[in-house]
Amino acid sequence: FAPWNDPAAKPFIQFQNVTKNFGDFTAVDDLSLNIYEREFFALLGPSGCGKTTLMRMIAGFEEPTSGHVMLDGQDLVGVPPYRRPTNMMFQSYALFPHMNVWDNIAFGLKQDGMPKPEIAARVDEMLALVKLEKFAKRKPHQLSGGQKQRVALARSLAKKPKVLLLDEPLGALDKKLREETQFELIDLQVKLGMTFVIVTHDQEEAMTVADRIAVMDQGKIVQIATPAEIYEQPNSRYVADFIGDINLLEGHISSTEGGVATLDCVGTGAKVQVIQDGGAKLGDHAWFAVRPEKVTISLTPPADPSINAVTGEVWDIAYLGDVSIYHVRLATGATVKATITNTTRLVERPITWDDKVWLTWSRDGGVVLTR
Ligand code: ATP
Repeated sequence: FAPWNDPAAKPFIQFQNVTKNFGDFTAVDDLSLNIYEREFFALLGPSGCGKTTLMRMIAGFEEPTSGHVMLDGQDLVGVPPYRRPTNMMFQSYALFPHMNVWDNIAFGLKQDGMPKPEIAARVDEMLALVKLEKFAKRKPHQLSGGQKQRVALARSLAKKPKVLLLDEPLGALDKKLREETQFELIDLQVKLGMTFVIVTHDQEEAMTVADRIAVMDQGKIVQIATPAEIYEQPNSRYVADFIGDINLLEGHISSTEGGVATLDCVGTGAKVQVIQDGGAKLGDHAWFAVRPEKVTISLTPPADPSINAVTGEVWDIAYLGDVSIYHVRLATGATVKATITNTTRLVERPITWDDKVWLTWSRDGGVVLTR
């Protein structure tokens, strides 16, 4: 499933040069974006980057200051929310406290004037979908957080919208329930064949559920790609740093021969050779970005310590159960992190505090970034 790679595929939701101003503040800045039918799409970014505003423009709660929002080829500008084939589920769930679960789910269908037998069938279908058949008569205050979340989901799916918009839908759940619910969401989305757009500031959540992720910064999309591409091939320090943990070594490009970029690091004199050159040119100021789990730690120097290797002292070890993260301080004062998987029961650490160690990585272990 990768319609975004198919030049013949028609986008389902389209932002065309969309700008949204609130007074003299620009929340969304000349943004263009295609989302495809049946895609699970995540908008990710720090607080205030404009992701909720973008989603609210799909729902119709905000209108663009300029540009167009299209759905299935139709311009949505001026179409009120209730006439759009979209539905939005809010973090607060917004359930009616005085209505039981059944009536909460039926509410929108009644308002639409759906015949009673059809409503009954639809509500039962939705209750089964979110596995809440036994809770139909309960009021919201008699439900757990996870159950409320599922009622809200059932209610927003009841009208069978073409697009479901999820605004931080799992924010109120604890970690374990959150992770379980992420898989339920994926399952639902596949089963229903709907387009889901989720807003989150939780990068792990975006990586887990989404087909593609758009990383936003100050009203613009910085990178849009699959979770693996975003993680393995970030296009900037901003994205590399926002998603997961990253080591950055600063330097200058001294060679780009044979498809391999060489970066001369500032301070350490280390030379880094990388296959993913990120379009860097000779003389460019650049950073080598490598994930901690791609860095190998050893007490002995590699065969050629002048390439793809640095040395330093262990000054901290974070034991997280499944992995340990080694913080190694280089002579320059910079820290490089290496993540080691704890494959055997840890009785005695082979490498410990204050040890002088070597850190190495392979030529395809990281990427060169020029911004
Ligand atoms: P969060 O994760 O905190 O919800 P966000 O990325 O979803 O952040 P938005 O809610 O889209 O951010 O807001 C983007 C910017 O636009 C923020 O600086 C916000 O203060 C501003 N903004 C949003 N709505 C309005 C409004 N109705 N009037 C004025 N400013 C607004």
